[in-house]
Amino acid sequence: MWAAVCLALLILSASALANPSCPTPKSGMLNVHLVCHTHDDVGWLKTVDQYYYGSKNSIQLAGVQYVLDSVVRELKEDPNKKFIYVESAFFFRWWDNQSQDMQNTVKDLVARGQLEFINGGWCMNDEAAAHYNGIIDQMTLGLVKLNNTFGPEARPTVAWQIDPFGHSREQASLFAQMGFEGLFFGRLDHDDKNTRWANKTLEMVWQASQNLGESAWLFTGVLPNGYGPPGGFCFDILCHDEPIMDDRRLHGYNVDKKVNDFLKAAQNQAQGYATDHIIMTMGEDFNYQSADMWYKNLDKLIRYVNERQTNGSKINVFYSTPSCYLKALHDANITWPTKTDDFFPYASGNHSYWTGYFTSRPALKGYVRKTNNFLQAVKQVSAMLGLGQDPRLERLKEAMGVLQHHDAVSGTAKQHVTNDYAERLAQGVAESFELVAEAYSKLQPDISGVEETVEPVFCPLLNVSSCPVSETSSAFVVTVYNPLARPRQYYVRIPVPEGVGYKVTDYKGDAVEVQLVPLPESLLNIPGRNSTAKHDLVFLAKDIPPLGFLQFHVKKSANIRIYKEQMSSVHVPTGSGEMELVGKNLALGVDKDTGLLKSIGVVTPNGITMVKVNQTFLRYAGMSGNNHNEDHRASGAYIFRPNGTSAQEISAKANITIIEGPLLFEIHQVWTPWVSQVLRVYMDQLVLEMEWLVGPIPIEDGIGKEIVNRVVWPDIVTNNTFYTDSNGREIVQRVKDFRPTWQLQNLEPIAGNYYPVNSRLILSAGPDVSAAILTDRSQGGTSLDHGHMELMVHRRLLHDDAFGVGEALNETAFGKGLVVRGKHYLLHSYFATSKDCDFGCLHRSVGEHIMLEPVLSFTPTTATTHTWKNTYTNKWTGLKTSLPANVHLLTLEPWTDGSLLLRLEHMYEAQESATLSNPVTVNLQDLLVDWKILSAVETTLSGNLLKKDENRYTWNVDSAHHDNHISSSQCDSEVYEYDDEFSVTLNPMEIKTFILTTEKSTTLF
Ligand SMILES: [Zn+2]
Repeated sequence: MWAAVCLALLILSASALANPSCPTPKSGMLNVHLVCHTHDDVGWLKTVDQYYYGSKNSIQLAGVQYVLDSVVRELKEDPNKKFIYVESAFFFRWWDNQSQDMQNTVKDLVARGQLEFINGGWCMNDEAAAHYNGIIDQMTLGLVKLNNTFGPEARPTVAWQIDPFGHSREQASLFAQMGFEGLFFGRLDHDDKNTRWANKTLEMVWQASQNLGESAWLFTGVLPNGYGPPGGFCFDILCHDEPIMDDRRLHGYNVDKKVNDFLKAAQNQAQGYATDHIIMTMGEDFNYQSADMWYKNLDKLIRYVNERQTNGSKINVFYSTPSCYLKALHDANITWPTKTDDFFPYASGNHSYWTGYFTSRPALKGYVRKTNNFLQAVKQVSAMLGLGQDPRLERLKEAMGVLQHHDAVSGTAKQHVTNDYAERLAQGVAESFELVAEAYSKLQPDISGVEETVEPVFCPLLNVSSCPVSETSSAFVVTVYNPLARPRQYYVRIPVPEGVGYKVTDYKGDAVEVQLVPLPESLLNIPGRNSTAKHDLVFLAKDIPPLGFLQFHVKKSANIRIYKEQMSSVHVPTGSGEMELVGKNLALGVDKDTGLLKSIGVVTPNGITMVKVNQTFLRYAGMSGNNHNEDHRASGAYIFRPNGTSAQEISAKANITIIEGPLLFEIHQVWTPWVSQVLRVYMDQLVLEMEWLVGPIPIEDGIGKEIVNRVVWPDIVTNNTFYTDSNGREIVQRVKDFRPTWQLQNLEPIAGNYYPVNSRLILSAGPDVSAAILTDRSQGGTSLDHGHMELMVHRRLLHDDAFGVGEALNETAFGKGLVVRGKHYLLHSYFATSKDCDFGCLHRSVGEHIMLEPVLSFTPTTATTHTWKNTYTNKWTGLKTSLPANVHLLTLEPWTDGSLLLRLEHMYEAQESATLSNPVTVNLQDLLVDWKILSAVETTLSGNLLKKDENRYTWNVDSAHHDNHISSSQCDSEVYEYDDEFSVTLNPMEIKTFILTTEKSTTLF
């Protein structure tokens, strides 16, 4: 019965939306789809606003406003002409400045299918360094705004990733889940492209999820020529190709030559493709500022090429769009090849592996991830407290949208543009924090006239352990907000000056145990750090409610005895041999001679099981070169190319200091003044924190350097196989010096084995022995030998790599090389000592805790502990029932007309955990304390299409590849709208998106 229902649904979903004015192809001919387009980077050599206006044209002659002005003029004059537009960040800058008349004109052009939105996200996001949460948010922002402006008929149906430097499987899966029909891109490994060209497999069906079945299939096409026109046919004001000169009375008549060249180019291109349709991208970066040049010449080209048909030519050319091209491919009704791995890494030549940008600008990458954490919390608080779509929140969403661009989070923009990106994040965070402060104040009693009211303050410099409020106030309240939909505990760290003890009180009025932990010397010495804090005040916040907060009252104590009691014991080990530090759950073995980690163990009632592990930092010397040919390619912002075969020691030993106390122990390791680390074990945790601090990387020797953290598990035999996450979601297998679908000749044995790591790198030697390292930002990573885990944390280079940015990646701040501080988290399957939480559970739950850490804010107070406890709301939650351990609350945000957007995600893959990989059911009505849900309507992942209206193309694939286990989500798909029963079932890795109509059920605010 169940199978019959599924079948019926599949048959019904036979056709999908395409542009209403697609040209009619001619059968028996090669049909050439000319796609007029511009590629407008949301910041790269100029800032996003400089590009919009056309300011600083001495850097690059590019002004997006002129593109849209001039294209609209051309389209209005000739209904035959078409254009596609991609980046919503630019489009809405322009749209907001148009008259009503002009807006109506544009609406007509869109309705007629002359102007078609493609992709439609805020930007064309990077695929290596962007996290899935950021990708979904930025796509949703652009797509929903397009929907609200032009209606559902204008919904982009084609994903267009023409420039990103490699393509992730998760990106394709997310696009499919957003309702896209197909994806086109321009860059893939040169040998992969040659192979696919020869086999006519440049177009395929990407089976982009190992969990979601056909709902994650996406038709994918590689564009023939990057995203540019065939040679000789660039007619832009920025190009130098000859126009079509067709007046025989004038000198230079070239129609015959141009037509011959074009016919040849079309025939050549057809060699690589499987149908009698081909696509030609007629445009380049920031083209069409003077659109008439393109259109005038393309008009002539179309006329003269098609005139040849009267002489027997079998080539037919017309204005088209990617959705019309995709429809033609679908109508061809042939069987397509499939693909299940991804398109990383991208090599444009034998020595040009684009694997450096996986790590480039690690501070910016960390800032983007941290801001995502904050953005999710702001959305949740705004939704739960009914704040609606506040413009301050919109600005933060837009800033994050810009930062996902393939020259932003990728670290491949010029320095002044990078500074502009960081400024956008800082402004967005500052404004949104006002919103959070307002939300918090709604929950507090009206005490005006009784107490002096002080607004909470957010400390954005906690990353360098600096916070003016905690450093200077004699008493303050810290609010610990938990953005997870289940309770958690968290070790709060607050920067404080030395020589002072503290009394910390919880909401029940009980004293909380405190440990004062000295900050490492290398942190205190970071250039530009302006702080009196010498210690972190650490305490454990237990049972922080889900989507809620706990407050703690913190008061300085004048009693020197309290300070001494709270201060950690600090000592430098003497003697030689291995020493063991044993905590409540974990133990570390450290070599006293080298100061390096030697083993890690788990403490059980039966004793301690120790596992061998070595860890140190190494450096690659970046290749210098003039880039005149592949052999002389330099390591740069895009490219990783070490100058030599292996990484060199930074120092054979690290000086160490041991810090111990009741809540945690730390080992402070210093290799050199510019490489140090804190190994940290909290008593109640089952993970080793490794907080690294790298920089200023010295360059006085004239050599650029790329710094890696290498962890080696001698007993994990990995046979060249390792695993990396894809955009923070599913795990992809990697095999050293191997690509699953083509023969690799790897002339760069290190760089050619680097892959993007957004959240974790995993080693496995069978079902019982695995280890994982998790990251707090995107980085490049690899495994070059048995048991090796390698993550690149920072790079400072002295040469440009000649792929356009035109600067060496040499970041400085305060006159010195940039210092970066970040964390790795190390796990071994032996740590999974509890029946309830196996290795899959360990790395997924630690990963979720890293992705959404608690948000801290600080309020100076004059209230006594007693008054604070009895007057203020110091514990609050907006969630009625915690979500099950395998469900992640991905999004809760204010939506239109008082509704809310909710996304729930099953955060486990099938097979990953014995119990947590099972399907799970949640009742939406049980979620929110203060809101009654009147109805819930399921949409696609991007919130711009009702799930019941989704009707994607189906594609014939080689039956050997046909995935028989159709995701059961497709089969319970009759239920997309809920107004009575709100029970929702999630399968492994499934995300469901809902628009909730709600009614306030509280008088609290
Ligand atoms: Zn680009």
